[in-house]
Amino acid sequence: MEETIRDPYLELIEAYALGSLDLGERASLEAHLATGCADCAKALAEARWLVSQLAYLAPEAQPSDMLRGRLLKTVRSEAGTAQVQPSGKVMPFWMWGAIAAVVLFALYNFYEAHALRESIRQTQIALDEQVELQKKSAQELALARREALILTDPRSLRIAMPAAKTGLPELHASWHAGLGIVIFGEKLTPPGRNRTLQLWLVPKAAGAKPIPSRTVRPDSDGNFRLLVENPPGAQGDTKALAITDEPAGGSPEPTTPPIWVGAVAGK
Ligand SMILES: [Zn+2]
Repeated sequence: MEETIRDPYLELIEAYALGSLDLGERASLEAHLATGCADCAKALAEARWLVSQLAYLAPEAQPSDMLRGRLLKTVRSEAGTAQVQPSGKVMPFWMWGAIAAVVLFALYNFYEAHALRESIRQTQIALDEQVELQKKSAQELALARREALILTDPRSLRIAMPAAKTGLPELHASWHAGLGIVIFGEKLTPPGRNRTLQLWLVPKAAGAKPIPSRTVRPDSDGNFRLLVENPPGAQGDTKALAITDEPAGGSPEPTTPPIWVGAVAGK
């Protein structure tokens, strides 16, 4: 039995190491082992090592299907190497705590190959979603920290943005030279359908047009918080911040008079 055809006895080794083969299979495998098949001997040594490592770690744990599939895949794909390690994706440490039970469970269900393949696929999807979710929450955290720094750093300019019309609440902006602008609004009447609020930087230079910046829509409570990480102009060159009502997606230049304007007074 050399390379071209996979040794069918290899499929039985793990179950054998766990003592879960039936008598016939067991006798047949032992007869094969007695012929001195090196592949099977090596696989058996690995499987026995694995079982010895796993048996006492978490025998009572109830692994989820997701973990079961994932771990089985890990063990299979890395069985050729001496050590079982997560490759590529970062695996939370708690997951390793469940490995023992998972692998054990998976090996006992050795004949559910089809179901396992499906569960491996599902696991991969779930894991990818998890990775995406972690990326997303890390980004959200970074933005929240940035906002907090802008709001708390005494070097930030505080810019009051009163409304041009009476009866509308004032907006509050903070502008940090290095971290950007945060603007808060509360209890606002949302713009109409397919409309948005848009921020503009009004340059000091005579005759210069307002520079378009981000758009934002208040939530259902009429609140918004706008973070502009990279304002399209510098504090020193900016006379005022203005907000207008624009078509959804924003405009290259204002199409309506400003609703709020705040003078940018240098320190
Ligand atoms: Zn063999």
